[in-house]
Amino acid sequence: MIHYTCDSCKRIIDPSDDVRYVVKMEVYATMDPAADGDSDDERDHLEEVQQILERLEDADDEALGEDVYQTMRYDLCPECRRKFLKNPLGREPMKQFDFSQN
Ligand SMILES: [Zn+2]
Repeated sequence: MIHYTCDSCKRIIDPSDDVRYVVKMEVYATMDPAADGDSDDERDHLEEVQQILERLEDADDEALGEDVYQTMRYDLCPECRRKFLKNPLGREPMKQFDFSQN
């Protein structure tokens, strides 16, 4: 039987007790058209990205690939899922309540 562990807190997610949540993230480079650029530039950028992505499909060039396009997948227990949804980017929590009433 396959055991899944939470990728955040490392505890085993027992499918009979817990729901396992899967987080999939997709991170990719975008080329925003320059504000003062003309449409030819914009199209060139898109073609450039397209070419990079096509190159990735037979990619030996993984280092480049990770710069341009990356997917990640995590298993989370219900507890970590809740934390993740509150703070998906792992930012420092707001400390405003801790610093009150000095
Ligand atoms: Zn967890």
